[in-house]
Amino acid sequence: MHEESLVRSLLHQVEDLAQQHHATEVEDIEVEIGPLSGVEPLLVREAFERLKDGCKWPSCTLTISVVGLMVFCNQCSGESELSSFQFVCTHCGSTSLRILSGDAFRLLNVRMQIENAG
Ligand SMILES: [Zn+2]
Repeated sequence: MHEESLVRSLLHQVEDLAQQHHATEVEDIEVEIGPLSGVEPLLVREAFERLKDGCKWPSCTLTISVVGLMVFCNQCSGESELSSFQFVCTHCGSTSLRILSGDAFRLLNVRMQIENAG
């Protein structure tokens, strides 16, 4: 499944980070999911619950930030948050837009406990 492999690589990414920082425990993993990412938040959560038992920190939690679809207008340089999938600038009506956020699935934040260096 698509989401399962995403979560699997996410956990690997976190594992690398934890190792770099000599973390003793990972408490929370925060990810960003945009409406155009093609990733279903519910399925990500399900996959996470299934996979985390096999990872090093079975008690860690997952926080999902669902971000809006933000676009930049090439015509008037305005930024709009689109609530539907109609790609029209809310300021001038132009359809010449660049996506600023909302098309990604990515790691935002990892909260971990770091070993005391003392
Ligand atoms: Zn515009």
